[in-house]
Amino acid sequence: MNRFVELQNIREQFPAIQQQVYNQSLVYLDNAATTLKPKAVIDRIHHYYSIENSNIHRGVHYLSQQATTAFEQARAYVASYLNAAYPHEVIFTKGATESINLVAHSLGELLMETGDKILITAMEHHSNMVPWQQLCNRKEGELLIAGMNEAGETDLVHYRNLLEQKPKIVALTHVSNSLGTINPVREMIALAHQHQIPVLIDGAQSIVHQPIDVQELDCDFFVFSGHKVYGPMGAGVLYGKTHWLEKMPPYQYGGEMVDQVSYAHTSFNQLPFKFEAGTPNVSAVLGLEAALRFMQQTGIEHIKSYERNLLEEAENELKKIPSMRIIGQAKSKAPVISFLIGNIHPFDLGTLLDKMGIAVRTGHHCAQPVMDAFDIPGTIRASLAMYNNADDIQRFIAAVKKAADMLS
Ligand code: PLP
Repeated sequence: MNRFVELQNIREQFPAIQQQVYNQSLVYLDNAATTLKPKAVIDRIHHYYSIENSNIHRGVHYLSQQATTAFEQARAYVASYLNAAYPHEVIFTKGATESINLVAHSLGELLMETGDKILITAMEHHSNMVPWQQLCNRKEGELLIAGMNEAGETDLVHYRNLLEQKPKIVALTHVSNSLGTINPVREMIALAHQHQIPVLIDGAQSIVHQPIDVQELDCDFFVFSGHKVYGPMGAGVLYGKTHWLEKMPPYQYGGEMVDQVSYAHTSFNQLPFKFEAGTPNVSAVLGLEAALRFMQQTGIEHIKSYERNLLEEAENELKKIPSMRIIGQAKSKAPVISFLIGNIHPFDLGTLLDKMGIAVRTGHHCAQPVMDAFDIPGTIRASLAMYNNADDIQRFIAAVKKAADMLS
């Protein structure tokens, strides 16, 4: 297979990657924050607002029926993409954060009693930490944190020991956004299930880099955001096993999620609508479907191995730079590289890289406790996507060397 030709085709699909910033072609390495969008996604949103624009589920007219059918087809597609057992196991939200908040409130209400515990890892994004911390605060409970080693890998012995304390819910990131670590979630889920504890997987950083099969993982919940998997902002997914979703109380109240309403009493709609109060972001959901179709057509296994090669190349070159410190050196890593050089402040280096047309992220990456654990103020983070290529890596490395020389 001619990988170079294939890559050219992929880059042509992404209008934003074609642009110049500061008179230089853009090297976009902030993909863990949000990915650029292929034409297929942009066109799908354009088509919805040009033609199908209508509110869903409650109209008898033609457009409403068209939009409703498209929306429900998107649900069925997402379910098949994840290998969920049923389409009703896919709840549309506005993103991973909202999906986690939904579970923390609703499952938390169902399972947590005063003094109960929740277990997470030390490398969670704030979105998979603060909702559980606040739940523990409301229930006078305790948030248990499975520690990590210096490479940024979860300490599985500690994790096993904490499971003995019988937490009510386990919530784990699949891939750390700040370290790149891929957690062995399949094994971790199986361990939690030995204690009958339900597990939520935060897949915000994993689904864009690898195939996801929720039945194979056997997770009870899986969440992700559309905008990190080449889709639009404003749509995300909560996958949940039917038996949990059926037992869980609604999270938000209003139109769409109800069955019968009187002034005195309300009964609730069936799944998945029970958890989708109000008008959803229809265009974003349709864009998300287009994004996942794009991923599938490109070939997820191919994307995975291609990105892995790029990661290896970038890390090997970075390691040659004097005083380079890569934060997060797990054996199993997604294409996310956090680093520091000597005493240079990440913000200063990031700002110089920007002026050279290289977009990276600097700071704590919404994972302040992770930075505390490594005793650093933050990092520079380069995160890769399918449209990055060897040229991008060379430009990035050259720019890092130049900026480091200027700042040393
Ligand atoms: N979880 C992880 C691991 C993330 O990296 C992010 C975003 O960076 C989130 C959750 C939250 O995603 P969103 O802001 O799209 O809700």
